[in-house]
Amino acid sequence: MKKVIIIGAGIAGIASSIRLRAKGFDVKVFESNSYPGGKISSFNLGDYRFDAGPSLFTMPHFVDELFDLFSENSKDHFLYKKKDISCNYFWEDGTRLSAFSDKNKFAIEVEKKLGVPTTRLLKYLKKAEKKYDLTKTIFLEKSLHKLSTFLNRDTLKAILNLNIFQISKSLNDVNEKELIEPHLIQLYNRFATYNGSSPYKTPGMMTLIQHLEQEYGTYVVEKGMVDITNALFKLAKRKGVVFKFNENVSKILVENKKAIGIQAKNKKYYSDYVVSNMDVVPTYDKLLKDQKRPTIVLNQERSSSAIIFYWGVKKEFPDLDLHNIFFSDNYKKEFDSIFNKKEVYNDPTIYINITSKDLPSDAPKNSENWFVMINSPNNENQNWKTITNDLRKNVIKKINNILKTDLMPFIEEERVYTPQDIELKTQSYLGSLYGASSNNKMSAFLRHPNFSNNILNLYFCGGSVHPGGGIPLCLLSAKIVSNLIK
Ligand SMILES: Cc1cc2nc3c(=O)[nH]c(=O)nc-3n(C[C@H](O)[C@H](O)[C@H](O)COP(=O)(O)OP(=O)(O)OC[C@H]3O[C@@H](n4cnc5c(N)ncnc54)[C@H](O)[C@@H]3O)c2cc1C
Repeated sequence: MKKVIIIGAGIAGIASSIRLRAKGFDVKVFESNSYPGGKISSFNLGDYRFDAGPSLFTMPHFVDELFDLFSENSKDHFLYKKKDISCNYFWEDGTRLSAFSDKNKFAIEVEKKLGVPTTRLLKYLKKAEKKYDLTKTIFLEKSLHKLSTFLNRDTLKAILNLNIFQISKSLNDVNEKELIEPHLIQLYNRFATYNGSSPYKTPGMMTLIQHLEQEYGTYVVEKGMVDITNALFKLAKRKGVVFKFNENVSKILVENKKAIGIQAKNKKYYSDYVVSNMDVVPTYDKLLKDQKRPTIVLNQERSSSAIIFYWGVKKEFPDLDLHNIFFSDNYKKEFDSIFNKKEVYNDPTIYINITSKDLPSDAPKNSENWFVMINSPNNENQNWKTITNDLRKNVIKKINNILKTDLMPFIEEERVYTPQDIELKTQSYLGSLYGASSNNKMSAFLRHPNFSNNILNLYFCGGSVHPGGGIPLCLLSAKIVSNLIK
């Protein structure tokens, strides 16, 4: 049986292990942490449970597919339900909007609250759907770096429709032209943050990001987000994948331009293939020190990071749901701060995720577990203590203004996570959430491929390589890698 070693038990590493095991490989996963999941983990503060990283779950069928590989019913192991409202939006001018997952219902809400005719929004959504349908097989489901991806009918069809992609305009330019109403523009600009980019820089093509949420819906996992990787980890173990925890890989062994294994704790382990789920920048800088570095690809601007306040709040807020956004009054300045000035903006957009709305056991009675996330620049050794102290005051003030409340006395538990913590815990370069940003037209082509051009039998999966960050794309990277390894 041919052997595969995978470095990292993030979601893409686990999914790759399952897919390769299903193809009959002997698979071992080396993970430096003591637990699986990487950025997807959870912890308790007093009687409150928190998901540490991702909070938004879309396209659950990519998880179900992994159970299907072994003819197991995912429902026996992994449960989730669709939300009727994907997000509640709040502005300081008093405007509020509920984004219904039913697009016709949402268009009516937008007409009622913002005076935008339903036809305008539905036309925008239809166009985004077309972009997605034309590009998904080329950009998401296959390696973008193999000639065969381009020599087929799907590519020809996409080329014939090139003007629909709006690559030469920014997402904001497209949204201003097509949506016109300022609140709606800001709402749809927000989707640039789903891959850690700026709507003022990322191309208009990215109107398709919202399509994934609008078309497929948002879901709540019945045992919390952490159950996505927990359930997949158990599946991998049931099928014979071996996991080695607390094993930091220090080197990828290369002989005659061929990966032949890894080194961890001064011990060598040999395999026919190596798959790195570690962020691609430290993979080269730490594990492949003697090898040629693909400098242009590794120097791409990184996606944004985040500061997160985890608050146990001993009060219930009926205006809030699972996902809530409190918008900045000046979105352009906020992104200018994050990407150009490398500072946290003083009137930031605040994302509040409260899983206890759907999973009551995540918080004590009459209380809520708030995951409060603010987009931030990458970790460049800023003074995060001072930054988070100032930010905390601004965030609480903004929440108080919008919800007409006094939040401070109700915060009974607290933990803070900075970009530095994210970098330390997951070895994500500069603490970025989604690998390289999509802040330029060519970013899709400038992500690292899922294989090495110079070293045979070395492959890459996860949020820092093609097709990009976020749970659905990480799961697709695992699919591409397992298809590449014959
Ligand atoms: C705060 C936050 C919020 C987010 N929100 C969302 C969201 O709402 N929805 C969404 O879809 N995505 C979200 N994301 C992004 C998503 O979490 C990531 O894209 C995804 O989890 C990355 O998975 P991965 O497989 O690339 O690897 P990671 O989760 O980064 O895991 C890599 C693993 O490799 C291990 N490793 C690294 N180096 C070594 C080594 N040398 N030896 C052994 N092991 C090693 C690490 O310990 C880690 O376990 C968020 C991320 C963060 C941090």
